[in-house]
Amino acid sequence: MNFLEERIVKDGIIKEGNVLKVDSFLNHQMDIDLFNEIGQEFKKRFANKEINKILTIEASGIGIACIAAQHFHVPVVFAKKSKSINLEGEMLVAEVESFTHKCKNNVIVAKKFLNPEDKVLIIDDFLANGCALQGLIQIVQSAGASVEGIGIVIEKGFQSGGRIIRNLGFQLESLAIIESMDDKAGTVVFREQ
Ligand code: 5GP
Repeated sequence: MNFLEERIVKDGIIKEGNVLKVDSFLNHQMDIDLFNEIGQEFKKRFANKEINKILTIEASGIGIACIAAQHFHVPVVFAKKSKSINLEGEMLVAEVESFTHKCKNNVIVAKKFLNPEDKVLIIDDFLANGCALQGLIQIVQSAGASVEGIGIVIEKGFQSGGRIIRNLGFQLESLAIIESMDDKAGTVVFREQ
């Protein structure tokens, strides 16, 4: 098991409905030393890519992306989930269905922060059905920029997102891939990587 898998086993809580709660170290309270290891690992896995921007989505992606960015020395842009009164000018918009909240959101990035010459690494906390990620990919592509890679902290491998995104030809790196989990027994099985 890698450092993240060990932490999931130690502190993750498996909920009914295939939801993994990791709010003691990732989604609410944040373990910054762990985030730093995550950032280092992303840097290693995307070492051959020329990345000049990281894109993530609010809220949980932001902390992870910011610590990772210290290893890439690039700015972080985060997609906003609703239209804020502070957003001015042209917007890039994609519609995303939320797995955890079971609703549809628009995700929005101001056009001025994504340019055709940008080589983007997309970072997020979870990958389940891939809706969030497909929205972010759509935003990058609508800016004329390129998706150089996708870094995910926890992929739920038994849901379809990972397969769909890899089939589209993207380099998708998930630091832990859950093959199955059992809320009654409290057990998690990881995919060998
Ligand atoms: P997707 O769009 O891939 O179906 O879901 C991705 C988003 O849903 C992630 O950004 C994450 O916020 C949330 N999510 C999906 N599954 C889980 C889960 O099991 N646990 C937690 N904490 N968040 C999840």
